[in-house]
Formats: sequence, C-alpha cells, structure tokens
Amino acid sequence: MAGASRGIGRTVAVALAEAGAAVAVAARSETEGRLPGTIHSVAEQIVSSGGRALAIPCDVTSEESVGAAVAETVDAFGGIDVLIANAGVLWLGPVESTPLKRWQLCLDVNLTGVFLVTKAVLPHVRARGRGSLVAVTTTGVTMTDKGANAYWVSKAAVERLYLGLAAELKADNIAVNCLSPSRVVLTEGWQATGGTQQIPPEAIEPPAAMAEAAVLLASQDAAGITGTVQRSETLTGRA
Ligand code: NAP
Repeated sequence: MAGASRGIGRTVAVALAEAGAAVAVAARSETEGRLPGTIHSVAEQIVSSGGRALAIPCDVTSEESVGAAVAETVDAFGGIDVLIANAGVLWLGPVESTPLKRWQLCLDVNLTGVFLVTKAVLPHVRARGRGSLVAVTTTGVTMTDKGANAYWVSKAAVERLYLGLAAELKADNIAVNCLSPSRVVLTEGWQATGGTQQIPPEAIEPPAAMAEAAVLLASQDAAGITGTVQRSETLTGRA
C-alpha cells in the first residue's frame, strides 16, 4: 500500500488488514511532521487490532527506495498480491501561476510514482498467478470545463497508464483499475493544500467509502472488474 501514513491511505490500509490482508504500510513519514500520521502509527494501529502490518519507508519518486520497499515486503510476507498506489500530492493552481517545481512534483509523485511502484511489484504479483492493482485518481480528470492544473493532468496520465496496463495483464489474471472518491474526503492532505476551498456538506464523502471500494477491488482479479475507472460511492452502491 503506497501512501499509507495518513488520510485515505491510512483508512484503506486498516480496512485491508481487517479484510485479512498482511499490509505493507509504505510512505515517507517515519516521525510526525507538518502533517499528522506516520507509517509506524498506522502499522501499530493495525497490529494492536490483531492484524498483520509492517511499516516500510518508501519514497515513490525514487526507484531505489521503491525497489528496497518491495524487496522488504516480499521478504516479510512471502509475496505481493495487491497494490494500492495511493501516494499523491495536490496542486490545484492554474497553469499560469504554477511554479515548475510544483508541476514537476505532481508528475513525479502522482505519475512516475505509480509507474515505479507498479513496475516493481508486477513480477511478484504475476508470480502469484492472480492479483489486483489499483491506482487512486480523481474525478477532476474529466472536469475539463473547470480548467487545468498539474494535479488533474498527472492523474489523467495515470488513468491512461492503468487502462492500457489492464489489457496487457488480462492474460496474467491481474485486475488493473483506477479508483477515486466520488466526492471530497477531508483528509489531512486535502485540508493542508486544497482546504482554502469551501466544500458544502453534501460534497463531503466519509473515508469509509474509499476503504470499502478499495477492499472490493483488491479482493478480486481479472475475471472480475478490470480496465475500469471507478468512483467509490458508485462502486459500493452508496450513491
Ligand atoms: P494525504 O492526506 O495528503 O495523504 C497522501 C499520502 O501520500 C500520504 O500517506 C503521504 O505520505 C503519501 N505520499 C506523498 N508523497 C509521497 C512520496 N513521495 N512517497 C511516498 N508516499 C508519498 O492525501 P489524501 O487526501 O488521503 O489522498 C490520497 C490519494 O487520494 C491521493 O492520490 C489523492 O490524489 C487522491 N484523492 C484524494 C481526494 C480527496 O478528496 N482527499 C480526492 C481525489 C483523489 P508521506 O508524506 O508520509 O510520504
């Protein structure tokens, strides 16, 4: 589970463990920083509830770091069946006022990060004979009437990556799907970066919807849902 130290990632990691998975809780934060949540606090939460989890430091923008994290996961758990590529950074500013470093960060974390973790886990998932890869994207990808920003562009590219990959991996019985919240989840990251926007109560989604949807996609393979872009509340029948 890439990007599991807080927010949606924390909720999904806990839900996967409750569903019986051994969870590699991967992200960068090992100590509390500007935002609350660490890989250790999430892994401890799972283990103290009787689940299996391991805190694994990982920067998804570094091929070396991703490779080490995947190797540690395979050593600890004996293989990998599921990837939830959830690590993400938000930048909703218009193109004209987007510094190059923000543009680059969105592409590095949100797109190259998904590429790197997917590439690294693939041989291990294939070796299991079945599996499920899920990339977390956003409804903003289709909102072209609302303009453009680095975040939406990076997530659109992930959807193209995963839809194409689904076709490549169908014969390997590996499901490949994108999943996004149907509405806004008021996570730590959202409140720190996107929180200047006023979100009406009806546009706010409980974190449990993403947890339920991710468990559903993770629990199946290419005989079921594959090559799709899913919205949490639609998939789970909440909306
Ligand atoms: P969040 O609270 O900011 O959490 C982001 C997670 O990504 C953290 O665990 C963070 O961990 C990790 N991360 C960031 N950069 C990383 C890196 N270089 N390497 C490894 N991990 C990294 O965000 P969130 O709101 O839960 O969002 C989670 C995902 O859902 C994102 O992909 C986001 O784009 C997507 N999404 C969210 C919403 C929403 O309404 N919240 C809507 C649509 C899509 P560290 O900082 O510890 O590394």
